[in-house]
Order: sequence, then structure tokens, then C-alpha cells
Amino acid sequence: MNQTKIQELRQWMSEQQSDLAYISDPGHIAYFSGYSSDPHERVLALFVPLNKDPFLFTPALEVEDAQNSGWAFDVVGYLDSEDPWKKIAHEITTRYGNPQKISLEKNALTVDRFEKLREYFSADFSTDVTPVIQRLQLIKTKNEINTLLEAGNWADVAFEIGFGAVKEGAKEQEIVAEIEYQLKRRGVSSMSFDTLVLTGDNAASPHGNPGSTAVQAHDLVLFDLGVIWKGYCSDATRTVAFKEPTAFQKEIYQLVLDAQLAATAAVKPGITAGELDAVARKVIEDAGYGEYFNHRLGHGIGTTVHEYPSLVEGNDLVIEEGMCFSLEPGIYIPNKVGVRIEDCVYVTKDGCQPFTTTSKELTIIE
Ligand code: MN
Ligand code: MN
Repeated sequence: MNQTKIQELRQWMSEQQSDLAYISDPGHIAYFSGYSSDPHERVLALFVPLNKDPFLFTPALEVEDAQNSGWAFDVVGYLDSEDPWKKIAHEITTRYGNPQKISLEKNALTVDRFEKLREYFSADFSTDVTPVIQRLQLIKTKNEINTLLEAGNWADVAFEIGFGAVKEGAKEQEIVAEIEYQLKRRGVSSMSFDTLVLTGDNAASPHGNPGSTAVQAHDLVLFDLGVIWKGYCSDATRTVAFKEPTAFQKEIYQLVLDAQLAATAAVKPGITAGELDAVARKVIEDAGYGEYFNHRLGHGIGTTVHEYPSLVEGNDLVIEEGMCFSLEPGIYIPNKVGVRIEDCVYVTKDGCQPFTTTSKELTIIE
């Protein structure tokens, strides 16, 4: 549970004269409460009033897990046979009276859920709590960084397993299966996104789908993966060669590596997110491959795999100590080659440190 951040949320609520915040995004609920869960179609919610104790609202089958997660306040469960909205309305009125201004997460609440809420409350729902949560999440605490380091360590373990599974004829999906199987056997309960293993032409698509393409000699193999560990995500990419790569593959690889290292060296408090993107992009543009680096340099990471800051052209957000984000330049030339190298880092007082330590020099698997 993150008491400090709950207090900071309340500070904002007080400025907005909002008497209740309804947090609905599971990643944001995990951020404040420490309870991480995917509720699927069921209702999972965190209600934070201005002056009284907050409570978690979960499916009945999750109450015990939520209570054991380190959350210090009440957990209210509902059965599948109950109407969750009726129960939520009852809990809110009993605990907090009749709130006049309820802040919502406008990009995480469906219209039908909003309408249910409106059936029970005639409050002012105009304030959006999403931007303030995004701002709070920008700067990570020491504890959060330690957990992100542990999550990053699991990504390093995943690379080791994945590299070990690369052999002539191995299909992308088989390598994915091996990585996830081995991690789960070792106690990782979930990946932070579907593991990507792409080879041959497939690697030239930044977010391709692993399938039945088999690894062949002189192919590059791209691994993009991460886990969720104690509610925090890792996300890292390595591209390796199977058997001696061609001179062209080596050239492209070196260029992406130079861009990644230049961006890493440029990270320090005071530089802007857009300037970091430009540092990496310049390396690739100067070599004539600018059009093939067709996505932003990076994104923030925390309880969700993509959060703020966005390292994108034109973003003048100033980088501060404690921010955590990916640095992931890539070059994707259709039907020819695909290389991406990604580390997530945390900003220190004069630079940055990575969450993943797997070598970024071109690894050649024999
Ligand atoms: Mn990634
Ligand atoms: Mn990423």
C-alpha cells in the first residue's frame, strides 16, 4: 500500500473540492493499494474519500487475497449473484454520506459503468482523476525502484532461457512457450504482455505476432518480454544472431546499439523527454535509416507497462530523478531486417541505471 501517494491524491482532491475518487484502472488500483488483480468482467474498484478511510471493492472470491496484499483498510466483496452497483452505492452512502463531487478515471471507465453510477448518485462527475495519477506515477519511490529491479532481473532470466532455446528449426511460438513455462515454474505468475519472439522477416515488424516461423542459420531473433513482479512490470528487448550474421545485419545492429547507448548516456535530470528521443533518432537519421525508426524512443514503466513519461518528439516534459522509462530504438526494414534494443532505466541524480543487465553487444548463438 502506498500511503504517501494516497495522501498526494487527497491533496489534489482537496484542491478540486472533490469528496470522493473512484479508481477503476486495475494498474492504478495496484499502485495505491498494493493489490494487483485482473478482474476480467467483474468489478474491481478503489474508493478514496477526502477525509475518511478508503475501501477496496472486489469480487467475493478475491476478498481474502486483497486482505492479504498489505492493504490496511476494508475490503468489501460482492457475489456474482449480487448487483455490484447497488452494493457500491450502499457502501458509499453508509460510509461517506452523499458525495457531491466524485472524480472518475475517464479513460478507464466504460460508459455503461458510468451510467450505473449515475443511477445512484446525482453528484458532479466532471473531474478526471487520470491525469493526476499519471503525474503521481512519474516519480518512483526507492521501494518501487527496488521492485522494478527485481522485475528486470526476471527479464534477464527470461533472456537466458530464450537464448538457450534458439536452435535450427525452433519455431517462434516454441521459444515463447519455453520462456513462459520456465518462468512460471520458477514462480513468476504473469508476463507484463505477450512475449514476443520474432525471427526472419517477422522481426521487421515492431509488434509482430510470434507464429510458426522457424529459426534458420544467419537469422536475427528479436526477444521483447517482461514480467509482472509484486505488481510492477519489466519490459526489455534483445536481438541476437543465430550463426554468423551478415555484414548488413551487423551494421544495422551496431547503429541501433549506438543509438541506444547515446540515449542512455544522455539521460539526466534537466533534459527533456523530446530531447532524449532526438539524441537516439539523430544517430539513426545521420546513417540514413531515419524512416525505419518508426516509433517513439520510449515510455514510462511501473505498475503498468506503458505509462508516463512518453519519450516522443516534441515532448518538453523535464526529466527528473526517480522517473522510470524505456529506451528502445529500433530499425525495421520490411523483408530485410529488424533490430530493437530496449532497456528500462531509472533516473539518478546525475544519470540513469538500467533494470536489465543482459549484454547489449551482439550475441551470436552457435
Ligand atoms: Mn518492449
Ligand atoms: Mn517498451
